[in-house]
Amino acid sequence: MSSAASEPIFADRLLNDWLASVGLGIEYSRAEANTLYFRDGSGREVPVLDHVCGFGSLIFGHNNPDIIEHAKSVLDEQIPVYVQLSRQSHANALATVLNAILRRETPSGDGDYAAIFANSGAEAVEICVKHAELERRARIVRLTDDVLRHVEEAREAVGAGRATVAETPYVQVGAARDDREKLEHLIAEIGRRNAELVAKGPVHLALENAFHGKLVATVQLTQNPHWRMPFIALSSSTRFLRADRPEEMKGAIEDLRESLLDILVADGAVTVVERDFPVIGAFFVEPVQGANGMRPLTEAAAREIRAVCDAVGCPLIVDEIHSGMGRTGAFLASSHMGLQGDYYTLAKSIGGGIAKNSVALFHQDRFRPEFEVLHSSTFAKDGFSAAIAMKVLEMLEADDGRAYRVAAERGERLMEMLTSVKADFPEVVDAVDGIGLMVALEFTDQTRATSDLIREKAGSGMLGYVVAGYILREHRIRVLPVGPAGNSVRFEPSVHLTDEDIARTESALRDVCAIIRDQDGDRLAPR
Ligand code: PMP
Repeated sequence: MSSAASEPIFADRLLNDWLASVGLGIEYSRAEANTLYFRDGSGREVPVLDHVCGFGSLIFGHNNPDIIEHAKSVLDEQIPVYVQLSRQSHANALATVLNAILRRETPSGDGDYAAIFANSGAEAVEICVKHAELERRARIVRLTDDVLRHVEEAREAVGAGRATVAETPYVQVGAARDDREKLEHLIAEIGRRNAELVAKGPVHLALENAFHGKLVATVQLTQNPHWRMPFIALSSSTRFLRADRPEEMKGAIEDLRESLLDILVADGAVTVVERDFPVIGAFFVEPVQGANGMRPLTEAAAREIRAVCDAVGCPLIVDEIHSGMGRTGAFLASSHMGLQGDYYTLAKSIGGGIAKNSVALFHQDRFRPEFEVLHSSTFAKDGFSAAIAMKVLEMLEADDGRAYRVAAERGERLMEMLTSVKADFPEVVDAVDGIGLMVALEFTDQTRATSDLIREKAGSGMLGYVVAGYILREHRIRVLPVGPAGNSVRFEPSVHLTDEDIARTESALRDVCAIIRDQDGDRLAPR
């Protein structure tokens, strides 16, 4: 229902005005499979083909009848939904199914993964940030305990006259009277420097153009500066690395190295030695970068990311929130490029299009059991969303994984069509990228277009939105832009995508490409 002009607006005032300005301000009243419906001025229901499908959260489409029927039946059974701090075996049942799938799809195929459930994708990633910090803190405690032990050994050796304090470039011990005093100066200075280091937060690693959420910690892992910069003081910093230059990754983090100072007694001398300090908290990686034009990671990048994590000893967090749950033709997109994670995150389609749910999974070798109580939420692990997730997993795995094969096959058909559009409009389409039902078409740079509208919209990063508004108005197809320049359109429909849907999408794209080729910007203008 649209509000009357005089009514006060308390939600989405700015957003709705902006949506209207680009021709996307439609309110949908019904949804099924890949179709959204709105009512036009005469009350007639108008269908719209939805290629965005809840930003990729609807692998089985809007209001899937099997999921809806299951949801109704569990509600009719009056299953307990919120019973925190009681035995909730549904959580374990769900984690057991996820473990069986991970054993099949992770490259190493080993290990069990402990599951922590949450409410949103970003919360699952925040959980990983917290758990990685717990791991880092444990490493720091081991290191500082070693230093304390070595300090006592040095005191004993110097006190007994078995060792003297050697000159050290790290710390000026000043004009001390004797070795005992020298040692105490040294210990104080080492303690001061080490305390400064220990108090520092971690630095996280992520890929350029990453998207990992918009909560306090996760927004710092999301590269887009508009979303990240206002909150930069609230959380740890991130070093963004280039996925297309895997050979540069190790060098690009070299300057992050820090050393904890330790004391060593050897050959009658007390010396200072440097120990590698765990600066890096974790490496966060999307196997297919949604906000980077749906670019899948290469196998070379996957190998290098794993090598970086092994070298610094930090967990590799594979964020499958967008790409997981079958969308790419496998349960985990990372299985395509052989990327082995230490933690995994899942969300979006795990909710079956009707529940909010997410999960972070931790390899048993790294999981710290105390974390089960260190993170919790009133709504997480609830009976309803767990019952829906079980149904979604059952549907994905049915008939020996038929849904994965359908996603792969439909994705290939979609990709073939996009590739043929690119071939026919080389001056308009720069790239087609993606895997399975997670693909994007990128337009060439239009910031020097001769059409005023096209040039201006491209310059302000709005061309993709204006194109989306046009395709919605003229073709009744819903697409949205994706990517740093806002000049790509994304396709992440459900497995119900038909050949007819693809043919309709093709004619819409050919229409838009012809407009851009002919620089007929007026036709794109929102009405
Ligand atoms: N990680 C990735 C890879 C995502 O695509 C998203 C959402 N698009 C998130 C995290 C955040 O999920 P949510 O919007 O549920 O917080």
